[in-house]
Amino acid sequence: MEGAIVCDGVSFSYPNGARALERVGLSVTPGEFVSLIGPSGCGKSTLLRLVADTLRPEEGRVTIDGAPPRGARTARRIGMVFQEPALLPWRRTAANVELPLELGGRRDGAGHARALELLERVGLGEYAGRLPAQLSGGQRQRVSLARALIADPEVLLMDEPFGALDQITRDEMNRVLLRVWEATRITVLFVTHSIAEAVYLSDRVAVFNGRPGTIRSIIPITLPRPRLPEVRRAEEFFGLETRVLTALEGSPEPGSRAAGGAATPADSVGASRAGTGR
Ligand code: ADP
Repeated sequence: MEGAIVCDGVSFSYPNGARALERVGLSVTPGEFVSLIGPSGCGKSTLLRLVADTLRPEEGRVTIDGAPPRGARTARRIGMVFQEPALLPWRRTAANVELPLELGGRRDGAGHARALELLERVGLGEYAGRLPAQLSGGQRQRVSLARALIADPEVLLMDEPFGALDQITRDEMNRVLLRVWEATRITVLFVTHSIAEAVYLSDRVAVFNGRPGTIRSIIPITLPRPRLPEVRRAEEFFGLETRVLTALEGSPEPGSRAAGGAATPADSVGASRAGTGR
């Protein structure tokens, strides 16, 4: 199985001089689900862009299966989902899902059948003929997830994909994503501001801090799989949420791999607390 992501001593500054990341190290094994959490502006999206090959590291290196991510990007082995689904409004749902295949010059009956299959998998089997304007926010995000999976990528990068949704829809999307991930076992890097979401979905949670961003600690999520919704009411779940919150607030995390430095500013901790969704 493929989809191993390695970030080794990665630093990055934007052309205006803004230092976004400082010596970030993170290894994600094939099929693993890793969330990135931390205050706004600590470089989580920048790290995703480096893995997606839309930015290049200033120092250090990023690899996917041992090679620079360019090869994975050009072979469409990287799927992406953002907070905004960015669907083409004049295209019906299935045609939006097929778009990456068309851009790669592969529009055929098999692609259409695959789009319908993916829409079924995300619970939108009956909506293939609808236009984006006829879908709810959560449904549009399901289309965006199906579109990200159409070329059978090995890596899925998700940047706060459910951040704009209400809590009930978000919980529903978490269940859809878990179902899809359990069926495909694709490697996922998932940026979120919600501690509960990170704990519910992930194998490990990487806690970022500071500007420039570093990884403060990486917390293994030991909850059993498949993750049933009930797990969110388990004692162990609350314990893990507390560990993530404690790491965000700046206490060293015993037993986890620390790579961070300075304390998280108090206002950012407030933002993180608000993000627990409780
Ligand atoms: P996060 O995803 O954790 O909120 P980002 O990766 O978006 O953080 O941003 C990290 C830092 O880089 C922030 O200080 C942000 O202001 C800066 N930054 C992000 N994008 C750009 C850009 N295109 N040009 C200059 N600075 C940027």
